Amino acid sequence: MGIVSSLPSLTGAKRLVIKIGSALMVDPQQAAPRHEWLDSVVADIAFLRERGVQVCVVSSGAIALARYRLGLVDGTLRLAEKQAAASVGQVLLAQAWAEALERHGMTASQILLTAEDTEERQRYLNGRATIQTLLELGCVPVINENDTIATAEIRFGDNDRLAARIAQMIGADQLVLLSDIDGLYESDPRSNPAAVHLPVIERLTREIMAMGGNPPPGYPSGGMRTKLLAAVMATQSGCAMVIAQGAMKHPLCAVMEGERCSWFLAAEEALTVRQ
Ligand code: GLU
Repeated sequence: MGIVSSLPSLTGAKRLVIKIGSALMVDPQQAAPRHEWLDSVVADIAFLRERGVQVCVVSSGAIALARYRLGLVDGTLRLAEKQAAASVGQVLLAQAWAEALERHGMTASQILLTAEDTEERQRYLNGRATIQTLLELGCVPVINENDTIATAEIRFGDNDRLAARIAQMIGADQLVLLSDIDGLYESDPRSNPAAVHLPVIERLTREIMAMGGNPPPGYPSGGMRTKLLAAVMATQSGCAMVIAQGAMKHPLCAVMEGERCSWFLAAEEALTVRQ
């Protein structure tokens, strides 16, 4: 069996988690959600839902949206400023999702979680039961970190790992990280145009993990490193993960149509491929 023929396909998923970063959600010029683009993502979600795939979204963008709205554009924000921004921006973010989903005949639900909520057993079980019930009722849960109350010590800080944690919690079989890059490269393609792209990663070896590099300048997390940490969490729980370019319209259809991306196989899939 060839590796490519055994790659997961989004329409084959039972439960899919889609993570969308702030840079995709928010148009810095308009200081608003990128509505047309979001509409195309939601059309893709409708396509998957019609094929029986349960979809859960992890959406960033709360802080970015309010940063512009509140004029907090320059420099690094203090924790309290970020939390205030998240509180304002989450309303705008949820509204954008609710309206877009509504236009395509779907119902949004909002869930805000802290790292603690995913660790403390009773809260974890409650959260899981709620998300599962929402999916069974046909809703599209739109999840974000509860930035307004999470303290620095208990923050995920990045939604890549939050999305992987959600995928673990609800037993998702696939996780899509929509990003500003079309996958994992052996070296940084921004500084090395000849960098080799990796379409399939069977195992997260030390060599692969080293390709994560450092977080982007000025950020404590984010970039490829946290995506690889998310891949460890997801693949070990039997969930395949894909990093794909999200900037174009209909980014999920693009993955289905074979646009370049990087698949990280779930632990047991990788085993089948090797056998
Ligand atoms: N939770 C943050 C927000 O919505 C974003 C975190 C991230 O982008 O990873 O603004």
